[in-house]
Amino acid sequence: MAHSKALLVLENFIGGKFVPCSSYIDSYNPSTGDVYCRVPDSGKEEVEAAVKAAKEAFPIWSSKSPLERSQILNKLADLIEHDLEAFAQAESKDQGKTITFARTVDIPRAVHNFRFFASSILHHVTECTEMPTMGCVHYTSRAPVGVAGLISPWNLPLYLLTWKIAPAIACGNTVVAKPSEMTSVTAWMMCKLMEKAGVPPGVVNVVFGAGAKAGEALVCHPDVPLISFTGSTLTAQRITEKSAPHCKRLSLELGGKNPAIIFDDADLGQCIPTTVRSSFANQGEICLCTSRIFVQRGIYSEFLKRFVEETKKWKTGNPSDPTINVGALISKEHLEKVRNYVKKAQAEGARVLCGEGVDPLALPPGNQKGYFMLPTVIAEVKDESCCMQEEIFGPVTCVVPFDTEEEVIRRANGVKYGLAATVWSGNVGRVHRVAHRLQSGLVWTNCWLVRDLNLPFGGMKASGIGREGAKDSYEFFTEVKTITIKH
Ligand code: NAD
Repeated sequence: MAHSKALLVLENFIGGKFVPCSSYIDSYNPSTGDVYCRVPDSGKEEVEAAVKAAKEAFPIWSSKSPLERSQILNKLADLIEHDLEAFAQAESKDQGKTITFARTVDIPRAVHNFRFFASSILHHVTECTEMPTMGCVHYTSRAPVGVAGLISPWNLPLYLLTWKIAPAIACGNTVVAKPSEMTSVTAWMMCKLMEKAGVPPGVVNVVFGAGAKAGEALVCHPDVPLISFTGSTLTAQRITEKSAPHCKRLSLELGGKNPAIIFDDADLGQCIPTTVRSSFANQGEICLCTSRIFVQRGIYSEFLKRFVEETKKWKTGNPSDPTINVGALISKEHLEKVRNYVKKAQAEGARVLCGEGVDPLALPPGNQKGYFMLPTVIAEVKDESCCMQEEIFGPVTCVVPFDTEEEVIRRANGVKYGLAATVWSGNVGRVHRVAHRLQSGLVWTNCWLVRDLNLPFGGMKASGIGREGAKDSYEFFTEVKTITIKH
């Protein structure tokens, strides 16, 4: 692949300093197919230096009051917000997502993550019980754990990385973070703001590089007692194996195969545009995206017609054009993988109603080598098909009919994942009944992606272990102790 003239070269951020690496990985602009950036190919040596810096910074950082840490987090949020447009441009170029999505979702949420944990760390209370017959009072105290290893994926780069860094440092831990090697730029930009925000050297260290090398060195490091990971179920299995000999504390946020269940009394005026968005936002590259749509038989034909019409309104093309809804997929390999799912569905007799292989994709001259694909709707797919069982993680959604509530709950639960589900109905009793019986860490009814960060986020079954959120992240990133006082 031809290298563009002026490549952006990233450096690791260790102990408050930018440090070059001896080797680098090429990073692509997904919307042009060009290499435009070089990312450190870190390994054991770099991880060792970062863990050392984090360990040295721990005693001072962990002894600061929550209020002092909170003020620093708020300052960092202000600085990122001040540079929001530059961060959004960089995220769009690095990941392929539309500039509109980066401006309105990714970067504002990264800012909010710091503000949210800057506030929530001030409001936790610990427990206390009395035992008058024994003359005892018991209370719990919480302390930061130490050096936290944070590993994040490529789909929402800064958004998901800051969702880990913010609670980890708010609780008094120091961190070594490893973003995805495919989307490292905004993490590197954030490192440039640390000093100005007042984050002491060594509190936040970022080591760039590949999962099998830099990621695994972090997971295996004996001085990193906890790992917070967001990524695929396959990688989580490997991380679990590698960290087992050290008995590490793990938080695993993994893949999904999320159903939308649409009953015949649903408000289709609300449901259809929201379900198009839940299927195709960020090119379908969100762990929470809908990929199986169950529609009650009485409204199935009408739903399909209107859903396809609405999907066709979504424009695919140059991510930096603010009128575009669907940008580029992350890589050539990923694009091929997603396309193959559509081919497999066709080979099994399913019908592709719009998108891949059916409609023409016209791209501007500069984007001809980019990794683009039209939003694709497939009907008449069997429940046992790989398209209905495996996470595709692209702009592909399957629509199938159902008859009864009992049947649709069984079918919705009939996959190995259990991350998110949506239920559409005007019957409040039914909505509660179905939500209770779905094997899913999150259930949205008559909406999608409305989040209160106070409440737990995470998946069941192969979608993860543990939860994140105000109380959950606090509990994960602190160690609890019970103290008994006899008086
Ligand atoms: P991935 O598992 O390939 O990579 C995630 C991160 O892990 C990257 O930083 C990667 O370098 C690193 N990694 C890879 N192998 C490693 C190893 N052996 N040891 C340590 N680290 C390693 O996932 P991805 O392709 O970057 O992201 C897509 C996946 O993430 C999808 O399955 C998606 O559903 C999931 N995801 C889940 C959530 C959630 O909150 N549940 C959010 C976003 C994405």
